[in-house]
Amino acid sequence: MSLIDRAQCVALDAEDPLAFARTRFEIPEGIVYLDGNSLGALPKETAGRIDTVIRQQWGRDLITGWNKHGWVELPRRLGAKLAKLIGAEADEVLICDSTSLNVFKLLSAALALRPDRKVILSDTGNFPTDLYMAEGLAQLLNSGHRLELVAPDKVAERIAADVAVVMLTEIDYRTGRRHDMAAINARAKAGGALTVWDLAHSAGAMPVDLNGTGADFAIGCGYKYLNGGPGAPAFLFVASRWLAETQQPLFGWFGHAAPFAFETNYQPKAGIGRFQVGTPPVLSMAALECGLATFDGVDLGMVRMKSLALADLMIRLVEQECAGYGLALASPADGAQRGSQVSYAHAAGYAVMQALIGGGVIGDFRAPDLMRFGFTPLYVRYQDVWDAVATLKNVLATAEWRKPAFNERAAVT
Ligand SMILES: *Cc1c(COP(=O)(O)O)cnc(C)c1O
Repeated sequence: MSLIDRAQCVALDAEDPLAFARTRFEIPEGIVYLDGNSLGALPKETAGRIDTVIRQQWGRDLITGWNKHGWVELPRRLGAKLAKLIGAEADEVLICDSTSLNVFKLLSAALALRPDRKVILSDTGNFPTDLYMAEGLAQLLNSGHRLELVAPDKVAERIAADVAVVMLTEIDYRTGRRHDMAAINARAKAGGALTVWDLAHSAGAMPVDLNGTGADFAIGCGYKYLNGGPGAPAFLFVASRWLAETQQPLFGWFGHAAPFAFETNYQPKAGIGRFQVGTPPVLSMAALECGLATFDGVDLGMVRMKSLALADLMIRLVEQECAGYGLALASPADGAQRGSQVSYAHAAGYAVMQALIGGGVIGDFRAPDLMRFGFTPLYVRYQDVWDAVATLKNVLATAEWRKPAFNERAAVT
């Protein structure tokens, strides 16, 4: 195979049909940002929009803003925008709460639809908060539910008559391994189980077809590939066939049929609105709306193609430039089996990542030894991948990562 050089990467950028999208973001000069899978970059529109909502809406109109500026509609209105990115209908998606809370709400709703079955099936690679929420819910229900974890490739075959819900994250947060959503939905349906998908690392990173693949429930984050800002509100999806008969356990007044009737008894809203709990965070919603707007006119098929091309380039360049330094690819080599990230195991992974960040290349680290590099095709360029690998090579070749400063663990890795 011929060697790749930086000029070839620059040439790929010149032909990139998604290049226009990068101008929608504030990317600091000299920084290569490969962590949009953890926190999306800042859209250029966001600061001005928040300023408008603060000064012109909140400041001038005070509480009348709830009606005048449609604040009260934000969870549904933004949900309808997001629905287009995940293969859902507008009235099946809601922006609300955090991903963790939405796991709790939807898992409860799903379990109630299968009262005779007691197993929540997930995989050993699932994100801890999803598993913790399931564990806590099983304890709270106190009626024999248990969380069972199997290896990711054993999930489909484990679906049997005792499984109420199959709860999975489509893209593994550590390795980027991808579940076959269509196959698992079909298998669950045949076995009488329901599916709850976590799209934290899928929504905005690649096409998702919840209805086309027969998904029952889904949740995901607003602050990763959707660029909603730190702690952005999350989302949830309930397939329309379940809306009428499904209820979630957090009876908040925003899920009530008539919140401003102030009745003493709970009566859920018809439809997806019953999955709301309390007052929506208007400022955070405004930021998330700007994040969603970065997808205007963007074809997710093209996003997927570029994501795979960037990740394949990274893998090839690491082979070419960094052989012999103890890096082991921890992600599937085959793009079809992978989300939008590439992870490498390294014995000193934490320190190597800190040294990389010191050199202007931002990725992150997941214990025990994984360095993660996320590819957000809206703003990552081919030349960024080159620069990231060149910096990585330098960090490894000079053993710069051995400096004590790079070996001190921070709270967030
Ligand atoms: C990032 C992530 C979360 C985060 O949940 P929060 O409630 O936003 O903290 C949950 N699940 C998965 C799979 C994630 O990757």
